[in-house]
Amino acid sequence: MMKKKILIISLIILIMISLGSLFFFFSNKNKEENKSINEILKEDGYSQSEVSLILNKVSKDNYDDVLKLGYDKSLIDIISSSDYKENKFNDYIKYYLKNKDANIKNIIVIVNSGYDLSNYPASSLLASLVLEKYYINDNVARYLDYGNSHNVDSKKIISLVNSKADLGFYNESLDSNLNDNNLVLVNKFYHLKEDYTPTDLVTLGGQYNRGVNNKMRKEAAEALMKMVDAAKLDNIILYNASAFRSYDYQVNLYNRYIKRDGKEAADKYSARPGYSEHQTGLCSDLNNISDSFDGTDEAIWLKNNAYKYGFILRFPKGKEDITGYKYEPWHYRYVGLDAAKIIHDDDITLEEYYAYYIEKL
Ligand SMILES: [Zn+2]
Repeated sequence: MMKKKILIISLIILIMISLGSLFFFFSNKNKEENKSINEILKEDGYSQSEVSLILNKVSKDNYDDVLKLGYDKSLIDIISSSDYKENKFNDYIKYYLKNKDANIKNIIVIVNSGYDLSNYPASSLLASLVLEKYYINDNVARYLDYGNSHNVDSKKIISLVNSKADLGFYNESLDSNLNDNNLVLVNKFYHLKEDYTPTDLVTLGGQYNRGVNNKMRKEAAEALMKMVDAAKLDNIILYNASAFRSYDYQVNLYNRYIKRDGKEAADKYSARPGYSEHQTGLCSDLNNISDSFDGTDEAIWLKNNAYKYGFILRFPKGKEDITGYKYEPWHYRYVGLDAAKIIHDDDITLEEYYAYYIEKL
């Protein structure tokens, strides 16, 4: 009986000793590994604090990459950046090896953007472009082309390229997509067919109109009337001066302007047939079609309030190079509430909205 007890106890002790030594063996082995990396890094020339930083900031799976680099101060710059993300370590190193002379900050920003830009140099221009809200990766080559040949900031580059203005007005002829409904884009690139007339035109009457071209698509007309009513409460009197215009009407108008001012001048203020937004039935020239409308109480009210009714100032001041038209304080375009708010709040044009929210998807 006694013998059996001793046997069991010694067996338990034996098992405990084996488990203990097994644990000791493995934990020691781990320490050995760490120790050797530590030592190699030091032999490579890293200081003790740099070694600690590496062991702290780089996951074990990537130690091979670190060792392959040998001593490299840029590695320390990368991992000590406040924007460094451990899970992007491989991408930083891969991109860095292709761009050894680049600013580390640019490398971090470009990799963090998540776009595949590995084939583009890590320039300051690219780093500032990817931080822009309306950056579209498919346009990156054109952004860089434009930015490298013009002295403009990255926001402007993105506006111009997204709106296709870098291609030159009328240099590309695309069909407007009628399925975009209220957001259909008609400009110096997108045009409507000769025979297109909206099927839901209604007539603006009474206090809402003083013009000959008094038709608008139903939803836009209702929004316009609502806006006119709201303005009246603020003692602002608004009315339509010119809304829907047919293709044929635009043919006559445009030819008349060419006769008067020549083609180049006419193109700055008048659309070519098919390229006029007035053919959509979604816009209205309000009150006074004249530069003198600018700065009036009515123009100021519209600028501040039209978006609340789904309308946008279509050809703003300072955006002539994007829209292709000179500033028209009277021309308002219906796009619906959601788009109008974004366009107003972000101070962008329909061209830029369309590129980012419609065309990109
Ligand atoms: Zn107009």
